[in-house]
Amino acid sequence: MRLLAIAAGAAVLLAACATYAPDAEESARPAVLVTRDGEAWSAEFTFDRDSPVWGFRRSALRRSDRQPWRLARWTVETPGVVLERQGEIDILRTVNGGTVPRTVRVTMRPAADNLEADYPNLVFTDGSVALFTDHFDVFPLSSADAALNTTDGGSGLEGEASRVTWRDRAGPVLFRGKRRKDPTDIAAASYVLFGGIPLIETPRLATVMDPRLPAWIGAEINDFAPKVVDYYAARLGAGPRDRPTIMVSWNGPAKGRRSMGGSVLDGLIVMAFEGDGVVESSPELRDQARWFIGHEGAHFWLGQVVRYETRRDAWITEGGADLMAIRALQALDPAYEARQELQREVDDCVTLADKPVSTAHERGELRAYYACGAVFAMVAEGFQKQRTGGDWFDVLRPLIDANRADEVLTREEWLAGLSALAGDASVRRDVEQLLDQGASDPVAVLERLLKRSGVPFQRSNGKLTLK
Ligand SMILES: [Zn+2]
Repeated sequence: MRLLAIAAGAAVLLAACATYAPDAEESARPAVLVTRDGEAWSAEFTFDRDSPVWGFRRSALRRSDRQPWRLARWTVETPGVVLERQGEIDILRTVNGGTVPRTVRVTMRPAADNLEADYPNLVFTDGSVALFTDHFDVFPLSSADAALNTTDGGSGLEGEASRVTWRDRAGPVLFRGKRRKDPTDIAAASYVLFGGIPLIETPRLATVMDPRLPAWIGAEINDFAPKVVDYYAARLGAGPRDRPTIMVSWNGPAKGRRSMGGSVLDGLIVMAFEGDGVVESSPELRDQARWFIGHEGAHFWLGQVVRYETRRDAWITEGGADLMAIRALQALDPAYEARQELQREVDDCVTLADKPVSTAHERGELRAYYACGAVFAMVAEGFQKQRTGGDWFDVLRPLIDANRADEVLTREEWLAGLSALAGDASVRRDVEQLLDQGASDPVAVLERLLKRSGVPFQRSNGKLTLK
């Protein structure tokens, strides 16, 4: 999850990690009991084997100070055991270098730290807290030095997942859309909500909203989210299996801030709003909120019904979700002005496509996936329009349907679809150039793509302006 200023555009979908099929004889793995007892939080790790070091699969840094969040929020209570940073990961080890005890107890102070490339915990103003489930996954290491040579690829290392149980002494927790007592799961890739915020259930959605969330945002989510999800279902066929949950937190009216962030997990959209700039509604802000809901909701199809194959293909899901949101807004609100948003995609792609779009995450240029992905989607849509008068959803539907079984929309499938619409491989080659090499003159390549696909624009003073 990312919290980005609105100006920066959007939120990032992190790929959910591998799902574990629990077999009949559950394999041995570390177990963790996470407990809330009023203000006191603890995690008790029970390791299934001896190891001198245990490393945390997800060891992100805080955005604010680029420090490991866990070290600031967790305290090891078990004597002789320390939590520390080694290279790119957080580890548990013993002071004397011996084997870590089979049981280690940690106390925690959960906070809404905004993390780099990982899901943050959410803190609600009534004291409720939503913990991201996979922060408790650990794997054994032979030494602290071995930890130094282990790199965190961003959203987590491959490795073992813990069996985690969630307990709130005050009552059931909310997990996967239902209140449950002491649920247990492995690699859940979700959130568990501790606290009394009501779950509001409607036929299409369940929502959990911070009681202090500005009222207009709550109203917009309640009104617009079901509509946009219905629209996607009408255009693209069945979406999420179960009724989705939307969890919305409010980080307060900080002065000069105006931020919406969010992410999508299995059957769950998580959103966080912050800043005095979002307290009062305006038509512009309302459109941004709707766009944001539309983008996140789009990931139930482009992200979950089908997902990308590797992170390098995030342009398929992020750019695709951007254009889905824009087209849905136009369909649901005829007064919505799409041109400005589409122009921003073109401008940002021009700026960023001088380097390979597919490796943008290595340079921290995630915006390239949104902007260039949306432009590629516009190009495919342009050809669809020429052929059938259709739009982006008509491009997507067969791509999604063809992959409902394997759940992956590969780059090859996407590009083959483009080629079929264009009737010519040269369009595909232009897109591949931007994906794999970047262009010394992105304007020239994008101009060619827009012109061929019939997207109306003009070029003046080296700038491409959509009409
Ligand atoms: Zn996204």
